Amino acid sequence: MKKLLMYLKKHIVFSIILLVFIILGLSFSLYKLLKHDVKLDLKGDNSVTLSVGNDYQDSGLIITDNGKEVKKEDIKIEEKSNVETDKLGEYKVTYKVTYRGKSYDIERIIKVVDDVNPEITTNVEEIVRDYCTKKDTTNLEYTANDNYDGDITDKVTKEEIEDNYKLSVSDSSNNETVKNILIKYSEKPQDSIVLNGNATTYITVGASYNEPGAYIKDGCGAKLNDEVVISGNVDTNTAGDYIVTYTSKNNNSLLKTRKVIVYVPKTTTNNGGGKTLYLTFDDGPGIYTQQVLDTLAKYNVKATFFVTNQFPKYVYLIGSEHNAGHAVGVHTYTHAWNVYDSVENYLDDFNKMNSVVEKYTGSRTRIFRFPGGSSNTVSKKHSAGVVTKIANRMTNDGYVYFDWDVSSGDASNASSTQIYNNVINGAKRCSECVILMHDIKKNTVNVLDQMLSTLTSSGYNFGTLNTSSPTAHQRIAN
Ligand SMILES: [Zn+2]
Repeated sequence: MKKLLMYLKKHIVFSIILLVFIILGLSFSLYKLLKHDVKLDLKGDNSVTLSVGNDYQDSGLIITDNGKEVKKEDIKIEEKSNVETDKLGEYKVTYKVTYRGKSYDIERIIKVVDDVNPEITTNVEEIVRDYCTKKDTTNLEYTANDNYDGDITDKVTKEEIEDNYKLSVSDSSNNETVKNILIKYSEKPQDSIVLNGNATTYITVGASYNEPGAYIKDGCGAKLNDEVVISGNVDTNTAGDYIVTYTSKNNNSLLKTRKVIVYVPKTTTNNGGGKTLYLTFDDGPGIYTQQVLDTLAKYNVKATFFVTNQFPKYVYLIGSEHNAGHAVGVHTYTHAWNVYDSVENYLDDFNKMNSVVEKYTGSRTRIFRFPGGSSNTVSKKHSAGVVTKIANRMTNDGYVYFDWDVSSGDASNASSTQIYNNVINGAKRCSECVILMHDIKKNTVNVLDQMLSTLTSSGYNFGTLNTSSPTAHQRIAN
């Protein structure tokens, strides 16, 4: 009995426990059956980064109820978006879902960013730099443009790094673009031999030949100390063409020659009616003066040079003019019109030039020519009557000024043919002709040989000016 009771007792406890489990299980299943587990999921990422300027289409969402996708007809979806695709910023797309009387929200973050690098545009892809001057011979021009900021050329920085120009620019979103432009050096120019004096030199038979020498310069124009070897013989007692050769002791690829022409001077026949021509050359010494001297020497013609200090590099040629038997007069130191500002200005300039003349000839000259001639119409704009005052003052001091009878026209850029015709025809029209030319005019220098050939064979005499020569004065026009 006791045993049975014990058994029952045990059984009841077990049954109750079993019952409780059954009830719990049933109610859980019922709960599961009746509950709505609604879930909203965005298709794609919850946060999207979009490049500015691109279109945006949200990819939508999926709504599930207890894991099963809810049919469209059972829900109401409201979509809100403040996305501006052409403006940087953080935006939201929001979905509000109404389902079985309840509402649910979900949102997606849209970041509109600029992730495109700016563009640098250049006019060239490489720059040429001069080997000698180290200066660019190509001009680097550039522009920078950004998809979002627009023209950002002013933000470009240019740096020279090794053999490149580094151009860099960053847009407002720190996207950086770098463009390198190669710097290419021009080729190193060759060394060369430079002759002192002219490549063709005339000397009269019997005169002595003074070798003017030569030097070597590097391709960039710097004078080198390399030794020049001079060879070739000039026999000044025998007329003919001689070649003097110049080479470098260190660099046997260098060679230069000079032609020395030893000639018998022309003897002039006196069928020019005994007329004397005074050839005058103004405004030098300059680049062509040596050639003028050589050509005069070739025809054994003496002339008068009215000199300036306009080209200091050539001013030493005043000495050559004097030594060759030509006359030297003062034209002006500066050849600037402001010498006519006052008598004092003129005298200062004149004396300065006369000191230069003294330096190269050993004495001061007493002859001169006014800049523009005494009849120039410019001086009165600087000081009325100034040429008259200067002329009186200078004449009292023992100086003589010269104008001209015949102008070659070279000051107004006449052609070589016109210069030739002006001189040849002009010489026929006067008895003692002072002829105006300029030894700084290429057209004059180019035609001088031909002109002298004609004049010397026409039998003119050639004189140099001094204080007792015909002055060819024109009317002072101040
Ligand atoms: Zn002049």
